[in-house]
Parts: sequence; C-alpha cells; structure tokens
Amino acid sequence: MTNVCLFRLDDITPDMDWSKFYRVKAIFDKYKVRPLLGVVPDNGDAALVRGEYHEDFWEYMASLERSGWLIAQHGYRHVYETKDAGLLGLKKASEFAGLPYETQYDKLKKGREILQKNGLNATIFMAPGHTYDRNTLKALRRLEYTCVSDGYANLPYYTKGLLFVPSRSARPRLSPGLDTICIHCNDLGERDYGELENFLEANHQHVIPFSEILDQLWYPKKTWKVRMQERRNLLLYRIRRYAAGSERLQAYLQETWDADSRRRTRNRILGLPRLVHTRSRGRRRQK
Ligand SMILES: [Zn+2]
Repeated sequence: MTNVCLFRLDDITPDMDWSKFYRVKAIFDKYKVRPLLGVVPDNGDAALVRGEYHEDFWEYMASLERSGWLIAQHGYRHVYETKDAGLLGLKKASEFAGLPYETQYDKLKKGREILQKNGLNATIFMAPGHTYDRNTLKALRRLEYTCVSDGYANLPYYTKGLLFVPSRSARPRLSPGLDTICIHCNDLGERDYGELENFLEANHQHVIPFSEILDQLWYPKKTWKVRMQERRNLLLYRIRRYAAGSERLQAYLQETWDADSRRRTRNRILGLPRLVHTRSRGRRRQK
C-alpha cells in the first residue's frame, strides 16, 4: 500500500499567533491542501495566547468550513486538570482522562455548544495532549461524535462506535500506512516553514483530505493485530523519545555508527558493555 498522510493544525484560538497561522495557511493553499482545524471552543490555556484577539474569529472559521476545511473540536478549554496519561499514554496531563464520566460529558457538551452557536459543525474530536480515557469515548459517543483524530496504528480503525484516524507525527514526514501530521502553528520557527514546503513539494501527491477518510464506508475493527501494531508503534515512539533525551545513548549511537548495517550491528553489540558500564558508573556517582 502507498503511504499517505493528512495534516491537522492544533490549538486554533482567536488569540493565536495569526502571522504564523497565515504563513502556514499560504503554504497549504499553494499545494491545495486543507488541513483539519483543531478549534479550542473556550480557550483557558494562557500558553496558547500568542497574539491579538480577533473579533471575527468565528466568522472566519465558518468561512473556512464553507470553503471545504474541516473543523475538529480540540478539547473544551485546553486546561489540563489531571496527570492521567489516558489510553495512549503519550503525556501525563489531561483535560479529560481521569475525570468522572459526567464531568467529561459536561465539558464536551459545553464545547460543542460553543462551536454550534458560532456556526461550526464538528463531529471530529481531538484531545489536548492526546489524552482521553474510556469515559471520554463513552461521552463522545453519547454526544454523537463520529471520529477521533488519534491512535497509533498504521491505518484508521473502528472501535467503540468511533472511527480513529491515527496521528503519530509532529513533523512533516511519510510514515508507514496512513498518518496525520500535527502542526502547532504557534510554535513554528523559521526552519519549519521551509521543511513543510519542501515536504509538500516532494509529497503533495501523498497528502489526502480528511473528508476522504470520512467518506469511506468501511474500516477494519480494532482487532488484536491492530492492537499489537499500535502497541509496537507506541513502544518505538517511547524508545525514540528516550534516546533523544539521553546524552549517553546519543553518544553511543554516534560512536557505533557505520554506513554498513552489518558493521553497525557489530559495533553496537561490542559497544554495549561500555554503555552499561558508563550507566552503572553514573548511578554510583549519583548515590
Ligand atoms: Zn492542543
């Protein structure tokens, strides 16, 4: 199967960094790509306030929706209330996971009402921090959401009455199968625009609109095979995150690197005792 990707823009609020948003939008417009917009219904997260409040925000969002952009509800207030990592376990902070069912239902409903009052019709949900639990899903179902932009399998799957569209990358890249790339416009630096444009230039034929996913009539259920794939991808993600944060491991990977894969494997096996030795020495020093 050809690898394909979708894009989503997180943390869309009336006081986001508009210059960054417009710059990203211009790049997507150039390649006729319309990402899924994750709108926070009633932002209470000071970290997302990056610019002047735009009074015409809701009108603008509705006009984008009319011109084919899809809107997702990105939480309710985007304020983390618990340290629960939820079902995916990617972040130990959540606006929903760990809270009682009724509280979660109430938050989701209030968020949805704000979007509806402002002319937006979001049946897709994306949780802040990728954190949600079984009660979140139960409440989403009761409120008749149809889709969650999340999951770590290689393809969309259907479970608990909801379609899960995987979202595994925070940078533009083609991953195996289907993936949604999350872009946080507020946090983009100068190099990121170039990276995005280069990616779209080379891969725009692999980018599909979110609506195409929703239009498909059938998706596989979350079988044990899909479950195993999701677990494996999550494990690989954790290893990569650990490796990126460990100087010792980075040094080991650099020292043992060789373009030839057989020599590289040999170097890495031979280098293991040194890696373990420096680790235990470091621990002894800490005591
Ligand atoms: Zn967010």
